[in-house]
Amino acid sequence: MNGKIVPWTEARVHVFSPVVRYATAVFESIPGFFHTQRMNVFRLDDYLRRLNYSQKMMRFSGIDHDIREGIFEVIKIHSFQEDILIRPMIYLDGESPGGSIGTTGPGSLAITVFPMPQNRFIDSGCRIQVSSWTRMSDNSMPARIKATANYQNSRLADLQSKHDGYDSCLLLNSRGYVSEGPGQCFAMIRDGVIITPDINSDILESITRDTILKLAKSDGIMIEQRNITRSELYTADEAFYCGSTWSVTPIVGIDGLPVSDGKPGKLTSRLQELYRKATRGEINQEWSTLVQ
Ligand code: PMP
Repeated sequence: MNGKIVPWTEARVHVFSPVVRYATAVFESIPGFFHTQRMNVFRLDDYLRRLNYSQKMMRFSGIDHDIREGIFEVIKIHSFQEDILIRPMIYLDGESPGGSIGTTGPGSLAITVFPMPQNRFIDSGCRIQVSSWTRMSDNSMPARIKATANYQNSRLADLQSKHDGYDSCLLLNSRGYVSEGPGQCFAMIRDGVIITPDINSDILESITRDTILKLAKSDGIMIEQRNITRSELYTADEAFYCGSTWSVTPIVGIDGLPVSDGKPGKLTSRLQELYRKATRGEINQEWSTLVQ
């Protein structure tokens, strides 16, 4: 925290801080993969770049610490022997009762690292609903960045889907087109083509989505980034979620209708395999940063 190693129970903020009052925080969830006895942080520079423009868009005045070095330090003191999630967060702390909604800094930095939970739907696939909550629009709260405040919208949709007996959900945006899941992006496959909402569909600029599109392209798979309407969802031959904690997870049912025969599809399995190889540094080594 702010350049110091702090015991978990002492990692605190003040109850009157801007982050508690107004959710003024941005963060990242960066995956690290433990493979052949080495920790391989995936696309580190790209995640940090996103953290940078998240800060810029929130008009934070900056921090005094080196996030990259902090990440390496926290990983090393734990000697993890498993896949991890690295969470740098920049937030506005402080105890001044005068702090207003317009406070811009100085930013505090907290970096936490913990074992990455295995996604339980990775093999079986998940069943999802189209949420009745609308993804907040770019002119309200930019979904493009990773701001903690955005997760209020995600949370409402996620809770609704669990309450209704589904594994997760898909939000439509204010224009009525598919945007994304509460913490993951969406893609479907029709006639061998990957179709996914484009970057201006009120989605996070997901690193995993970008990874999958690049891997698919070099594997000769066709891609369309365009609007998807709700009814087109039900025509999918295959569908999947992607994200740092979801990797590539098959979707086998939407709104109670099976996707194709209700089993994970072949192209989805192929993408899972390519993603596994890339995150383990077996292909596209330029995406790997080894923690020495
Ligand atoms: N959308 C949202 C709302 C998310 O929270 C995440 C997870 N970070 C994603 C998409 C997937 O993004 P990424 O691939 O960068 O993890």
